[in-house]
Amino acid sequence: KEKNSNEKEFLQAVYEVAEIIIPFIEAHPKYQNKMLLERIVEPERAIIFRVPWLDDSGKVQVNRGFRVEFNSAIGPYKGGLRFHPSVNLSILKFLGFEQVFKNSLTTLPLGGGKGGSDFNPKGKSDNEVMRFCQSFMGELFRHIGADTDVPAGDIGVGSREIGYLFGYYKKIKNEFTGVLTGKDLSYGGSLIRPEATGYGCVYFIQSMLKTKNDSIKNKKVVISGSGNVAQYACQKITELGGKVVAMSDSTGYIYDEKGIDAEKLQVIMTIKNENRGRIQEYLDTYKNAQFFEGQRPWGVACDIAIPCATQNELNKGEAEELVKNKVLVVAEGANMPTTPKAIEILQQANVLFAPGKAANAGGVATSGLEMSQNALRYSWKKEKVDEKLREIMYHIHASCEAYGKNDAGEIDYVKGANIAGFVKVADAMLAQGVV
Ligand code: NDP
Repeated sequence: KEKNSNEKEFLQAVYEVAEIIIPFIEAHPKYQNKMLLERIVEPERAIIFRVPWLDDSGKVQVNRGFRVEFNSAIGPYKGGLRFHPSVNLSILKFLGFEQVFKNSLTTLPLGGGKGGSDFNPKGKSDNEVMRFCQSFMGELFRHIGADTDVPAGDIGVGSREIGYLFGYYKKIKNEFTGVLTGKDLSYGGSLIRPEATGYGCVYFIQSMLKTKNDSIKNKKVVISGSGNVAQYACQKITELGGKVVAMSDSTGYIYDEKGIDAEKLQVIMTIKNENRGRIQEYLDTYKNAQFFEGQRPWGVACDIAIPCATQNELNKGEAEELVKNKVLVVAEGANMPTTPKAIEILQQANVLFAPGKAANAGGVATSGLEMSQNALRYSWKKEKVDEKLREIMYHIHASCEAYGKNDAGEIDYVKGANIAGFVKVADAMLAQGVV
């Protein structure tokens, strides 16, 4: 704690895991020696670098770039890049730490890492984004590689940014390898990768509801965010007969009591992906919807809530509101969107609560499948990737059940996910000696 006192998000993520892992270690002597816990909370390496670039007026801008290579016990470092003004070392260490356990849960050979920059792509021209990405990769390239560290996208890093990053890596390394995932289909991307995190989260919710002999059909759903994860969570919920009534972005939320069906979602995708606009523009097409400026959507009554925007976006008061409105499931599409106090409220009220490291693991799992396809120089069909994604999500649910079920038959998904994720990494670290 003293060493990382300025890193509040990182400490929050470590506390959540430690609270569960310490009693588990105490009950399992093989994990008690060799400073395992102390080693697991320390990144293997954190790289911080200058990213200078020229804006359209010819002025030099300087941002800070990061890559936190957290743990490679079970495979090459793997985790996204985030471009957002809030990015700092604490946020990337929390994300990298979470990624270690998440990647372990997928059953694929993936270590954990995370990176990014405090660069804000909003309002920048395509050329500015490209020059920034090239400068960022101009340093990052020496630390990554298909067998070393394989970054992907995250907030602010979508297919445009991945394309610019990949193009520059290829130019300076003179090699075409699977060094990044989230690529477009035309140069080695995987089918279903854009959909994977949102779809995977909904498959996980299906499994949770199944334990109560229930399903998504006719459920009222609220989703925060309207980016990659939120969009495909919305699409899959609708496909399975649920009704999404609210979505948001950083300016507020929209409420559409008739439901955001496939056609309406397409309008949101055009606003957010093509025009890089505001969610409020939904009302230009659907005049009966409402916009609530500066507010988050958790006051809207729903059966299922899926936070898909950012960390700490669902607090205690909002959890109380959800419970009052009889929410059945809260599943984290984003990383650590629910504050510790809010998780406590939800769990005490017997709401089925899925932590991000389980519920949003479908994205990195499909990135793992993209790496396999790149290594084979082959592409699998959409149905095959989707089937593998489903299997992985059902398997993660089963792991949570194996480690998180109590005598009354209730599943504590936070406990289950943390222990299941820990065991594989811990076993690998013990087997590899003190390195
Ligand atoms: P996007 O950039 O595509 O979308 C992010 C969405 O969240 C946007 O609607 C954005 O609003 C909103 N948002 C971002 N920051 C804030 C904030 N500080 N306050 C309010 N709203 C905010 O990102 P993704 O969909 O890829 O990622 C969303 C979350 O899911 C993140 O936590 C990410 O780490 C996590 N995740 C993503 C995976 C993936 O495969 N993409 C995999 C696993 C987890 P606006 O448009 O106004 O900026």
